[in-house]
Amino acid sequence: MRRPLVAGNWKMYGTCASIKQLLNELTEQTVPNTVDVAVFPGLIHLQAAITQVAENSIVVGSQDCAVQLQEGAMTGETSAMQLKDIGCSMVLVGHSERRQLQDETDSVICRKFIAAQAAGLTPILCVGETLEEREAGKAAVTVERQVDAVLVELGVDVLKNAVIAYEPVWAIGTGLTATPEQAQEIHAQIRAHVEKHSASVAQGLRILYGGSVKAANAAELFAQADIDGGLVGGASLNAKEFSAICRAAGS
Ligand code: PEP
Repeated sequence: MRRPLVAGNWKMYGTCASIKQLLNELTEQTVPNTVDVAVFPGLIHLQAAITQVAENSIVVGSQDCAVQLQEGAMTGETSAMQLKDIGCSMVLVGHSERRQLQDETDSVICRKFIAAQAAGLTPILCVGETLEEREAGKAAVTVERQVDAVLVELGVDVLKNAVIAYEPVWAIGTGLTATPEQAQEIHAQIRAHVEKHSASVAQGLRILYGGSVKAANAAELFAQADIDGGLVGGASLNAKEFSAICRAAGS
């Protein structure tokens, strides 16, 4: 039985005051203790968020890390070891906004994945096809390539301490959500693909859905056999909405 995980990606939103308020509101909400909840504030807000949730079960992760594990002369970068040092537990790697806006390639994402695990962070590997790829019938093959960039390169065992988030690019921030059936189809394909390498790793692997998840559609998505929670962008910036999504994952 996989424990559901709901992760809130706060992207480049918020001020010190608004992030503090959001976390205050979030910690007042009730979420079943059968659900893992993680939030991913911007880098500049990580330390304050970690301190604020210290007494809570909410975990804090980073939206990115450097490819280099160790500290060094890399202006503007933050290493996975530095993130671990301040108390982060998780890190997003390969989010489509970074693939698109920062030109992150599969091989860069693989290096970030390695750095994250080496530092003791759990990477959430984000994968997903563009609208053009879906319309060309290439959704599954695209996602498989993105998974293989880690799975084939590093071996299946690395997925024992990792999470995969399937986020169709056309559904991120657009209000367009994959139907539960569309999402389940890709989630099942990802699990079946991992299963070719190891049945036990595939069975234990949490695969989150992301792309315009909200309270109104979360329960139907999370009811699918291979959807183990969500990676939530816009709706995670509202404590009531986000906690309703978290509760849906526990029902
Ligand atoms: C995301 O940023 O990972 C995401 C899924 O965003 P949204 O929920 O706003 O589509």
